[in-house]
Amino acid sequence: MKKWVYLFHELDAAEKYVGGDWDAVRGLLGGKGANLADMTRLGVPVPPGFTVTTEACNAYLAAGGKFPEGMWEQMLEALKEVERLTGKKFGGSDNPLLVSCRSGAKFSMPGMMDTVLNIGLNDETAQAMIRLTNNERFVYDSYRRLIQMFGAVVLGMPDEAFEDVLEEYKREKGAKLDTDLTAEHLKELTHIFKGVVRKELGFDFPMDPYEQMKLATEAVFKSWNGKRAVDYRRATNIPDDLGTAVNIVTMVFGNMGNDSGTGVAFTRNPATGEKKLYGDYLLNAQGEDVVAGIRNTEKIENLERDMPECYREFLQICDKLERHYRDMQDMEFTIERGKLWMLQTRNGKRTAKAAVKIAVDMANEGIISREEAVKRVSPENVDTLLHPQFDAETIKKAKADGRFFASGVNASPGAAVGQVYFDADTTEKMNKEYHQDVIMVRPFTKPDDVHGMLAAKGILTSEGGATSHAAVVARQFGVPCVVGAASVRIDLDKRQMEVDGKVVKEGEWISLDGGTGEVFLGKLPMTSPSLEEQTDLLTLLDWADEICARPGIRKSVNGSPTTGLQVWANADYPKDAQRARAYGAKGIGLCRTEHMFFEQERLPIVQRMILAKSSEERKAALDELLPFQRADFEGLFTAMDGYPVIIRLIDPPLHEFLPAAKDLEEQIITKRIEALAGYVLGKGEPKEVVELERMLQAVEAMHESNPMMGLRGVRLSIVMPEIVEMQVRAIFEAAANVTLKGVHAKPEVMIPLTGHVNELKVIQPRLEEIAREVMKEKGVSFPYKFGTMIEIPRAAVTAKEIAEIAEFFSFGTNDLTQMTFGYSRDDAERSFLVTYVENGILPKNPFQTLDRDGVGRLMQIAVEDGRKARPDLEVGICGEHGGDPASIEFCHLVGNNYVSCSPFRVPVARLAAAHAALKHAA
Ligand code: PEP
Ligand code: MG
Repeated sequence: MKKWVYLFHELDAAEKYVGGDWDAVRGLLGGKGANLADMTRLGVPVPPGFTVTTEACNAYLAAGGKFPEGMWEQMLEALKEVERLTGKKFGGSDNPLLVSCRSGAKFSMPGMMDTVLNIGLNDETAQAMIRLTNNERFVYDSYRRLIQMFGAVVLGMPDEAFEDVLEEYKREKGAKLDTDLTAEHLKELTHIFKGVVRKELGFDFPMDPYEQMKLATEAVFKSWNGKRAVDYRRATNIPDDLGTAVNIVTMVFGNMGNDSGTGVAFTRNPATGEKKLYGDYLLNAQGEDVVAGIRNTEKIENLERDMPECYREFLQICDKLERHYRDMQDMEFTIERGKLWMLQTRNGKRTAKAAVKIAVDMANEGIISREEAVKRVSPENVDTLLHPQFDAETIKKAKADGRFFASGVNASPGAAVGQVYFDADTTEKMNKEYHQDVIMVRPFTKPDDVHGMLAAKGILTSEGGATSHAAVVARQFGVPCVVGAASVRIDLDKRQMEVDGKVVKEGEWISLDGGTGEVFLGKLPMTSPSLEEQTDLLTLLDWADEICARPGIRKSVNGSPTTGLQVWANADYPKDAQRARAYGAKGIGLCRTEHMFFEQERLPIVQRMILAKSSEERKAALDELLPFQRADFEGLFTAMDGYPVIIRLIDPPLHEFLPAAKDLEEQIITKRIEALAGYVLGKGEPKEVVELERMLQAVEAMHESNPMMGLRGVRLSIVMPEIVEMQVRAIFEAAANVTLKGVHAKPEVMIPLTGHVNELKVIQPRLEEIAREVMKEKGVSFPYKFGTMIEIPRAAVTAKEIAEIAEFFSFGTNDLTQMTFGYSRDDAERSFLVTYVENGILPKNPFQTLDRDGVGRLMQIAVEDGRKARPDLEVGICGEHGGDPASIEFCHLVGNNYVSCSPFRVPVARLAAAHAALKHAA
């Protein structure tokens, strides 16, 4: 008979069953069950209990809601063992055993599935508990909570069915807080609650403890397919077929008086990463009081004052658990009459900032290796840390202007500006359908609110603390969040909130700083944070670079070096190059020279060059442009002193530098109307109109039906070589000038859009000749290369011939994707591509994440064949994919030397490159 049930002390048997792998144990027992069993084995005080496996859950769901054979009997047997260990009896009238029934999937899904506490209480056991504890108030409080939770979770009744009755009852009795209710009140409430069940459902709340346990187990199994759990799994990519385990755990009570309590704590601060215990507790309370954030909690360090011995023991356990799991722990505990019990431990969720600090600190403390530290921080974490914030000046000014609205707990950092909505559905709708930036405001959040939280730029709650649901979920998703802003009075009926007469209505704008916990009226400007100030992140990125620079970390693929990828940057101007270098780029992978042509004082010269009627006229215009280009390049080489700088020769079709025909026509008409009077007076055609018409003629002559596939890139250079000749002269004069000043310039000239080797054969020698000429003129030499972009499928499949001429390849995957799929990069997203991705026709947008099977295959061929002709061929990527972690991994696998991306993405790319190196370490 299959074993469906494992007692907490049967971990060895579970390990044996799955073959010893801890991940598989978590798969079988769920994260919570596995950790409870593990803590039991470590000697940490855990209340006795057992776990029903995820296999049982899957079998139950597959059978359409039937327990698999033998499971229930095994639960009964395990329960007997728990009775033996505790000396208590389930349903007993002397010393009754009460249990909780808790869900627990392989991956933590905080608050997404169901839990029922106090199972085993009924009219008879309640009397026994009163005799034992001498605390009638506590027993009826537990009893009414059981009916309430069981009603909501197991019997599917709405929360309000009980909450409304409770509120009404409290009002009647003049009780402000739950704690103001007396034993008599709670006894009466228990009776009333039973009536609520009978009235709503037409049957009685079950008195049989076994029936309670059975129904609760089924409810947990079913909650795996509940809407909130499914939504959460979608958002976090947790597979649907894992199932949840059920943990039946002896109840221990934090509400047995002032020598009892309950709390949640993290071994380090989950918002900042600081190495200091962080959490909350409540005396005389049960777990959900802390997590729901409904009662105001005490800071964990005050436990030393309230219960010094328990606090000391707790600190020791924290240390033991953190060292055992080698990660920051998120723990739940209960103290029952002075005895500490650990109910749960798991690796704690944390902000991006904390993730980096904890990883770096733990490596420095020797708990984990540097490689492990690098692996523990995700590219998304790094992205978040470079996200917008409000700077100090903005905040100061906002305060001086009276725009401060409220403050609360700084639960999840980052700045958010958005329009306010007061429920999750509206928040989601305004974002999805109307593309608004939205901020969700609630008194507190519950798991059903997650879809709104995911759609929100920021979250604000008026209740709850640092470990409330809103705080935990926001941190996980990197959404800026302020909780417990107690001065905010939310009126859900009027759809507004108010502080001291300042009213914010639904749809109005606020700005929220999750790092400081402050909220402001209206829209505040945001700034990008500086990387330079984030020392932990800089340390981590240095470690990432060390990993990639290690010879032997990569098995040579397609003749690649055995080090990992380098990260270079796409930068057109010296100031971008400086930022790129500060962010850790080791070269410039793409300078799009045409961007320099668009500047105000240059564009007229460029247009004159294009419209030139003779070669002399064109040459004159180019001579005027040359000093501009040379100055740009000098700046780039100086900023990147010692590093390679790839400069791409002009790429776009020339019409892009001229006004659109439609605009010209409009201007001509306007001018003509303006000059009508002049005509009448017989003054003839005004000069401006003549010029505009000339321009229009040129634009019309240049018109192409398919300009992306037309006269651009190397084709343009062949038809009109003067432009690139000027560019190459400017590049080499600049390199020579800065070399003479002691800068180490390493220019690499890149020819775009090559499709046939003959194109290179025509143009490249002419340009190399200029390079040599300039060096001779200036009397200096420096290393340089001539190479090409690979952006046309034909170039990829004929890479061997191309590499005979080109000294380097750079994959222009924007065009390569366009040309491989035949999708216009400018139009595909707005017409069909989004639909394709939504309907699963394509797994991802190929313009964002490299299509490995098609475009990637071409890249693989190109690297392999290219290096056959030229073993030391330098290979990079400079399309948008160069900053995308999944595409970076592919570039590592295919044998690139480097990836090149926008300066802002460089830190993310450095981490992603190290992840690829570690994941596929030789
Ligand atoms: C590319 O095509 O990937 C590329 C980098 O060039 P551009 O985007 O300028 O066409
Ligand atoms: Mg291109």
